[in-house]
Amino acid sequence: MPEEQPETVRARLMSRPTPLEAAPRLARAIGLAPDDLWIKRDDLTGLGGGGNKVRKLEWTAGAARAEGATTLVTSGAAQSNHARLTAAAGARLGMDVVLVLAGAPSAGMTGNIVLDGLFGARVVWAGEVSEAGLAAAVASVAEDLRTKGARPAVIPFGGSSVLGARGYAEAGWELLEQAPDLSTVVVALGSGGTMAGLVHALGAERVLGVHCGAVADPEQTVSALVGGLSDGGTADRRAADGLRLRLDQVGAGYSALTDPVMAAMTTAARTEGIVLDPVYTGRALAGLIAAVHDGHVRPGQRTVFLHTGGLPGLFGHPEALRRARSAVTDTG
Ligand SMILES: *Cc1c(COP(=O)(O)O)cnc(C)c1O
Repeated sequence: MPEEQPETVRARLMSRPTPLEAAPRLARAIGLAPDDLWIKRDDLTGLGGGGNKVRKLEWTAGAARAEGATTLVTSGAAQSNHARLTAAAGARLGMDVVLVLAGAPSAGMTGNIVLDGLFGARVVWAGEVSEAGLAAAVASVAEDLRTKGARPAVIPFGGSSVLGARGYAEAGWELLEQAPDLSTVVVALGSGGTMAGLVHALGAERVLGVHCGAVADPEQTVSALVGGLSDGGTADRRAADGLRLRLDQVGAGYSALTDPVMAAMTTAARTEGIVLDPVYTGRALAGLIAAVHDGHVRPGQRTVFLHTGGLPGLFGHPEALRRARSAVTDTG
């Protein structure tokens, strides 16, 4: 457990542990034995509709509060789950929230954006910007808040600072208590903090990250966070060597829906009654299916699929909705 950060820094935003559930029908459907596959339900972290960002916000928003901040500022894609959960965390902690989102307001504002508003966050639209452009917009929003007498704290993109990644080191230790014989945990890789925390707790060989196209260099992003979590000793730096990554599920880009991802979503829904999202968890399951197919994940090993949430994003993804709707009419 971290010594440098007193426990009072972290905010309590969820009850733990999240459930670890057997998924025998999904296991069989993807070529594993019924007993091999388990789902770690981090979609059930509770706050704000749930999802993996809650564990990171316990640390990042908690630190902001401990430093006397009045306002949380963060950024993301229009359908950012992290932005939605920052809005919810602000409501829970009695802090104002400003979200700087890429894109522009549109008539069909649905999914996460509706929830951002419901939680009382103010949304600033940054237009079509690069990563650097978004960061600049965040800096100017924070500066503006300061001149108005607020005390803003900026939470990084996806909540993936070293501090935020601590939340997933804890999740890794929690999972190890539930599944001591764990062989592989499969996780969607977005801004990298989730995978990095798990690698810190479980070792690189037990974590398979499926790149979702949110960052330019996923390996470098995760290694840097793993390095930051360690005390910097050589043994710890080596912990990031041999990261297991799948880069084959990005398709035409972050928000594009591929056939394997749609198939994975349909399979999870029809075998276990579990909803995945088109950007993250759908890609993670498509990556697991590919890993079973090419022998990187084998029957007879304890495999855990980390469900990181994202359900509201399904309703903000026109292409996924169109294809899900056509399934309704096809089976009529
Ligand atoms: C953000 C997110 C991820 C990826 O987590 P990172 O820590 O950003 O890599 C996975 N799944 C969902 C649903 C997310 O919102």
